[in-house]
Amino acid sequence: MYRMVTSDAYRSLSFWHATVPDTLTAGEPLTGDAEADVVIVGAGFTGLWTAYYLSERDPALRIVVCEREIAGFGASGRNGGWCSALFPASLAKLARMANRDAAIAMQRAMYETVDEVGRVAAAEGIDCHWAKGGTVQLARSPAQLERAKAEIEEAREFGFGEEDLRLLDAAAAQAIAGASGVLGGVFTPHCAAIHPARLVRGLAAAVRARAGASIYERTPVLDIAPGRVVTPTGTVRARYVIRATEGYTPGLPGFRRTVAPVYSLMIATEPLPPAVWDQIGLADRPTFNDLRHLIIYGQRTADGRFAFGGRGAPYHLGSSVRPSYDQVPEVFAALRRTLAELFPAIGDVPVTHHWGGPLAIPRDWCASVGLDPASGLGWAGGYVGDGVGTTNLAGRTLADLITGTSSVLTRLPWVGHKSPVWEPEPLRWLGVNAGLQVMNVADREEARTARPSKIAGFMGRFLGR
Ligand SMILES: Cc1cc2nc3c(=O)[nH]c(=O)nc-3n(C[C@H](O)[C@H](O)[C@H](O)COP(=O)(O)OP(=O)(O)OC[C@H]3O[C@@H](n4cnc5c(N)ncnc54)[C@H](O)[C@@H]3O)c2cc1C
Repeated sequence: MYRMVTSDAYRSLSFWHATVPDTLTAGEPLTGDAEADVVIVGAGFTGLWTAYYLSERDPALRIVVCEREIAGFGASGRNGGWCSALFPASLAKLARMANRDAAIAMQRAMYETVDEVGRVAAAEGIDCHWAKGGTVQLARSPAQLERAKAEIEEAREFGFGEEDLRLLDAAAAQAIAGASGVLGGVFTPHCAAIHPARLVRGLAAAVRARAGASIYERTPVLDIAPGRVVTPTGTVRARYVIRATEGYTPGLPGFRRTVAPVYSLMIATEPLPPAVWDQIGLADRPTFNDLRHLIIYGQRTADGRFAFGGRGAPYHLGSSVRPSYDQVPEVFAALRRTLAELFPAIGDVPVTHHWGGPLAIPRDWCASVGLDPASGLGWAGGYVGDGVGTTNLAGRTLADLITGTSSVLTRLPWVGHKSPVWEPEPLRWLGVNAGLQVMNVADREEARTARPSKIAGFMGRFLGR
């Protein structure tokens, strides 16, 4: 367990924290016992969207959020800013879990969610640098092009047309993102680039402005049980207790194997001159990646930088999470190299910020949300790297479940889904790190042979993707 103390320390968490117009001073902690209707653990997007929609549904509800650091401390303040309609389980997998119609409904709900985030940001006056420019996924090898085509094929099988996802030839992809070695790509309009810390801090302010809602910061929750959460400075008793702790979940007693915290790391460059952006494009600020196995992701920020990230940092034994794990110089160097390979036009632009944070991977890679009506315990998470949009859907769904509202959302296939727990250590450490290595090796193999890697497919099946 660790404590960060100053607002300077919070500001150094990421480029986004460094540039949010906010003092990042921690709010009041809990002092003494409290009573509420709903207590939420964690003030990231999951916890805050839940509080937001709950207080909208029923302004009389007493809602308490307990946050160990400050609102937006975790992944919600530090991510790539893709407010996307991506859900970590594929349509085919959702169809296997439930049925075809349920898979389609889930994807449609995700599409609507992107617009819902934009709607609330506008309604609450949160300037999160919203730019709904879609996403371009570049195919930069024959194997990546095959994956692009397979993605389109899967979408078509489920009835999603050109308006949702379309295949790009090399010229069309290049016209959006002037990257190197582009053979084609996939474009979807269902994504907005955002400044995540502006959104999460703005959302916290909107929640605080609601009469019945309180956010206690610097208030670590030591234990969660039906009807109560325990902190060092008091116990909050409530009918409903919601766990919204994502990558930090294994630190709570009883949840060690619920998800595996895996780190994603990012860099931000200095702003690039307009002449360089003229060569690169990304004019509508679409988010971008290529279709390699070891995920990368980027955006052109509102102030003309690249914010660029990827996986590859190691998983740590015992699912441990520490601030020092946010910094892995080799991964930052690899990200800088990859960005220059993608966009040689950036030349030697300096990297000004590097940071990282934990995301949560459930054993079957399927995010879930749920509430046990008997115990009053609820949760949402396991978004892998796709939580910016999905947390909003989770918040609305939890608000429905808690207020006993049967809705389209409460019938979606991820509601009540229980992923198996991860293997005990050291098997978990071996499996997760082997998975990360395999993705890396598979990308190199594909670059060498120009054929899809079999080993990546095998690993994907082993992990249940
Ligand atoms: C570097 C990076 C890049 C990413 N990029 C993207 C992206 O571009 N698009 C996308 O969709 N997703 C992305 N993700 C994932 C996305 O950010 C997360 O899925 C999402 O923010 C999860 O929100 P959350 O509220 O569930 O968790 P978090 O934001 O992690 O919030 C959990 C909160 O709980 C608090 N907490 C934990 N334990 C306790 C405790 N015991 N007591 C009190 N408080 C506690 C933490 O301090 C934290 O503030 C990225 C993640 C990372 C790390």
